[in-house]
Amino acid sequence: MLIGVPKEIKNHEYRVGLTPAAVKEFVAHNHAVWIEKSAGDGVGFSDKDYTLAGAEIIDDAQTIFAKADLVIKVKEPQVNECKMLRAGQTLFTYLHLAPDLTQTDLLVKSGSTCIAYETVTDKQNTLPLLAPMSEVAGRMAVQAGAHYLEKAQGGNGTLLSGVPGVAPGKVLIIGGGFVGTNAAKMALGMGAEVTILDRSLPRLRELDDLFFGRLKTVYSTADAIDKYSSTADLVIGAVLIPGAAAPKLLTRAHVKNMKQGAVVVDVAIDQGGCFETSRATTHQDPVYVIDDVVHYCVANMPGGVARTSTIALTNATLPYALALANKGIKAALLEDQHLLNGLNVHQGKVTYKAVVDALGDKL
Ligand code: NAD
Repeated sequence: MLIGVPKEIKNHEYRVGLTPAAVKEFVAHNHAVWIEKSAGDGVGFSDKDYTLAGAEIIDDAQTIFAKADLVIKVKEPQVNECKMLRAGQTLFTYLHLAPDLTQTDLLVKSGSTCIAYETVTDKQNTLPLLAPMSEVAGRMAVQAGAHYLEKAQGGNGTLLSGVPGVAPGKVLIIGGGFVGTNAAKMALGMGAEVTILDRSLPRLRELDDLFFGRLKTVYSTADAIDKYSSTADLVIGAVLIPGAAAPKLLTRAHVKNMKQGAVVVDVAIDQGGCFETSRATTHQDPVYVIDDVVHYCVANMPGGVARTSTIALTNATLPYALALANKGIKAALLEDQHLLNGLNVHQGKVTYKAVVDALGDKL
């Protein structure tokens, strides 16, 4: 099979669909890989790295889209990429179609088969191709929070670890899933005092076991948020209600009641945010201040550490991408219900229920 990897063209997107190590795996299974020139430059993978791995470097995306059987990307295809997709071709990437009528329409018109990373499932009923980005964002949330707690960044001047003789900073994490757990790891590693809230008692039990009681686990209620946010230096929003917009758990009144110079990081901003005062920001302009509380609400946090994110994403996508290439698209999808759950568009039709529910009458 011919695998094609175009350079990402979304604004400030530096990730790339395959690492050189992943290319080697495809080549070892007798597939050909075409990579667009300089596709990995932004994350330190040169054309030479790809050539040594066995890929062919192609000057332009048009040639790749015209010939590749399987196109592997990171972000949803942009309008001119959608227009290059064609019947008989498969696209494997993040799509996020439900809020995106234009893209859905173009993918339907293309006649191609589109498999979305974000709806592939696994035996644990989690989303294995979203998890690595949640791991990255959770870890980054503490790094970003620690940075903005510095005085010159608008924060209250607290060092999360404290020093001998000075108490550590207080971190409140709302939501104990992938993001929350990874944020907790980082915050505990720094020596902060960590409290984590979740609505799921089984999850709170797991967290208690995982961290040997080194953090406080508290059942998530408005009262608990009231109590712990008022003394926190850093609050991290990490809740997810699958398929729904994030609930506004930290209200404007809570923010008003927080310490001056505290920092809030709303990782759930890509689902609308779980703080009432959140609005999406960018890596170029990541923070704003409301009621003396610094807000960090970057919607694509993993893009900020594009090298780590590329490798983490490829580690997760590679087995699925290899299955598609080795077995053939149809057989791979029919053999694996979890991969089939990734199918969003096929032969001119939307095949994913949540997208139909969201866009049905507009399509
Ligand atoms: P997850 O499903 O693993 O965890 C979510 C947790 O929230 C679950 O444990 C659930 O029980 C808990 N929860 C639900 N309602 C709650 C409530 N009222 N109070 C407390 N906890 C509650 O999800 P995840 O992978 O950790 O993702 C969390 C959020 O981060 C999602 O919105 C995801 O889209 C987002 N995310 C954002 C970025 C970014 O760049 N901004 C990157 C990755 C993930």
